[in-house]
Amino acid sequence: MPIYEYKCTECNKVFEMFFKSYSSNKTPECTSCESSQVSKLISSVTFNVKSNSDAGYFSDSSNIGKHVEQSFSKHGLEMPNSVRKSIDNARKGKMPKGLDI
Ligand SMILES: [Zn+2]
Repeated sequence: MPIYEYKCTECNKVFEMFFKSYSSNKTPECTSCESSQVSKLISSVTFNVKSNSDAGYFSDSSNIGKHVEQSFSKHGLEMPNSVRKSIDNARKGKMPKGLDI
């Protein structure tokens, strides 16, 4: 389940939205003022390791971070170095802090 972080351009509140799938067309609304004038903070796309229901998926280390890469390319964005590094480390068996699989 992808989690995105948004910032409300009306009241500057930062909030998270959960989506059931990447194809979801749900429009994010500010949790504070219910404005739909929000901007996505792409850097907070999660690795989403724990909630993957396919237990064997991450036994292939090349699958780690794959959806993150796809998510960035889908939005036509260049992946920040920090994200790139975290994925590379995870594939080498060094999971980023806070991840526990
Ligand atoms: Zn707001």
